[in-house]
Amino acid sequence: MAPGLSVASGLPYIGTRTAYGDATDMAETKHTKVLIIGSGPAGYTAAIYAARAMLEPVLIQGIQPGGQLTITSDVENWPGRTQIQGPELMMDIEEHARAMGTEILADLITDLDLSKRPFTAKGDTGTTYTADAVILATGAQARWLGLPSEERFKGFGVSACATCDGFFYRGKEVVVIGGGNTAVEEALFLTNFATKVTLIHRRDSLRAEKIMQDRLFRHHKVHVLWNHDVAEVLGTETPLGVTGVRARNVQTGETTDVPCDGFFVAIGHSPASELVKDQLELHNGGYVKVTPGTTHTSIPGVFAAGDLTDHVYRQAITSGGMGCMAALDAERWLAEQGEAEPD
Ligand code: FAD
Ligand code: NAP
Repeated sequence: MAPGLSVASGLPYIGTRTAYGDATDMAETKHTKVLIIGSGPAGYTAAIYAARAMLEPVLIQGIQPGGQLTITSDVENWPGRTQIQGPELMMDIEEHARAMGTEILADLITDLDLSKRPFTAKGDTGTTYTADAVILATGAQARWLGLPSEERFKGFGVSACATCDGFFYRGKEVVVIGGGNTAVEEALFLTNFATKVTLIHRRDSLRAEKIMQDRLFRHHKVHVLWNHDVAEVLGTETPLGVTGVRARNVQTGETTDVPCDGFFVAIGHSPASELVKDQLELHNGGYVKVTPGTTHTSIPGVFAAGDLTDHVYRQAITSGGMGCMAALDAERWLAEQGEAEPD
């Protein structure tokens, strides 16, 4: 691998061609027994186990080194730590994977051919990766409402990451939409900056954990607008910016304009299965299907772990657990193929 591609990451990632280097300089083919795609808890944990099995794994980080936890603040449910910052936790796990012997590369897989072995993946750097086994750990991405006005103001008052953008709303009013853990966490985080946080939810109860709900309801800056969704984001053209949202009562259809400077969309995540959608069996709206109790996908030698395959639990610890399973499944499968012995 060309110098400069291995990343001491945890730093905010810049998903540009420059960050990966010039594709023409980097073009090469690299073979590995186990290619791990994704650098969240699932990918890094798979890497720790695969490296300790002497499989010399190569891990590709993608555009979000460290995965979803790098865009949150406090994590309070990672065993052994009553509280840790998401980015710090992911840097620790990355360092662990590296120390065990994983080759961690800053690249983005843009094409994956699972039709024949060795499997082939193309990186945005120009590198082609071939692998005897692949562990998919590409996680999930934020979902959006799909409104034209939401699109219009993205980056100009509309955000899906309070940790990233909350600071811009010091002394201002913000609206958050959603009723899950993410929405409640985002709303609470935004109280550090904003003077008022309105949480809009389409039902009359939240699905967030009760402890989070208690914190939310107790907070003097938080106001909840029940049984509403958002019909439109309101704003100005010059300068481009948000001035409010048009909330719609889901029962009566009546609309109310809620003034705000920032609008945070926190309505969940969709599995990042684009690379494999025409190659692997998917279910439940795009999640990679695995044989229950394992990480085996519909193609032998291809394993999936974490949020990419899990529409039920979607936690860091369950993703890590599945990453462990994927490495063990890959090791056993490779052994059956006579390919697990070190070169
Ligand atoms: P992700 O963390 O989604 O990582 C996916 C990885 O795949 C990324 O590194 C990405 O760059 C990479 N990738 C994607 N496509 C490609 C590609 N084409 N090529 C190469 N790489 C690619 N869970 C908890 O247990 N506790 C919490 O407190 C908590 N807080 C959260 C707060 C927020 C705001 C969010 C959004 C989630 C939170 N979660 C929490 C859920 C937790 O973050 C996820 O369950 C977990 O990160 C999933 O891990 P993963 O490894 O499956 O995928
Ligand atoms: P989620 O649990 O799927 O919740 C999404 C929320 O958005 C739901 O309340 C849903 O409403 C609402 N919603 C969905 N589509 C909508 C739309 N088009 N318009 C308006 N509202 C919409 O997603 P999440 O909160 O991102 O959590 C994802 C996973 O990560 C969960 O497993 C969660 O436990 C985990 N997580 C954990 C923590 C933690 O442990 N501290 C923190 C963050 C996330 P309905 O309720 O009506 O369906």
